[in-house]
Amino acid sequence: MPISTLAHSYQSELPMTNEVIVVTPLEILVVAAPAIVLGYLGNSRLGIRRAIIGCIIFVCLWFLSLTPTLDKAVTVLLVVALGFCSGLFFPLAKRKAPSGPIRFRYCPNCSSRLESRQIDGNMLDACPSCDFVHWNNPITVGVIVIPSGDGIVLVKRGNPPKKGMWALPGGFGNPNECPHNTAVREALEETSLVVEIDRLLTVMGTPDCNQTIVFYLAKPVNESPVADSDALEAKVFPLDALPEIAFETHAQIIAEWARSRSAKNS
Ligand SMILES: [Zn+2]
Repeated sequence: MPISTLAHSYQSELPMTNEVIVVTPLEILVVAAPAIVLGYLGNSRLGIRRAIIGCIIFVCLWFLSLTPTLDKAVTVLLVVALGFCSGLFFPLAKRKAPSGPIRFRYCPNCSSRLESRQIDGNMLDACPSCDFVHWNNPITVGVIVIPSGDGIVLVKRGNPPKKGMWALPGGFGNPNECPHNTAVREALEETSLVVEIDRLLTVMGTPDCNQTIVFYLAKPVNESPVADSDALEAKVFPLDALPEIAFETHAQIIAEWARSRSAKNS
């Protein structure tokens, strides 16, 4: 049963006739289905390349092997328009980044598929086509103990992990940033306090989450902390009334520093 008609009035090589060209539901499906799939795939960065290649293959096949009732130019326009619309209305769901250790599947240098390779006793992802190796070095974290009166400044975490729990101010280093600058910047971002480093407390490795945490002690502050963009709350807690601390490492550092301080004062 025909559902629409199109006339080939502008194809000069064809004789002008009054004959109407019937477009069958099957033909519409042949055009629409790949267009919708390609548009859907085209809605991701990787998908764009896939969609372009798919479009070219689809159009080539159409020109070579099919004898369509539809005009070829109309077909190409339909594919593009339908693909664009389907990409707009049915975007690909955003994939969540893994919470655990990051593994690359493809070389960020040349796009070849990475292979596992034994290097210096470690199994690492390496590229067979160029000399890229994903060394997976530990990420540097700067954390700071900020004394205030008889207590310390803690922040209620605004981001996972342990969102909503109390911890020392701190966070990941920015590109080319020294750990002490990370600690000072994170203190400002989370507590609105401009702090000065007193001394380095300790450096700790956490093999389970591939981090190197550098703990600093800040010079005591008199101002009250105010939670900024990265924290839900920022508050001074007396050392004898601390809340549950989000991370074991933070709790350990606070306890050690509190012990050394009371030993100094006694
Ligand atoms: Zn490569």
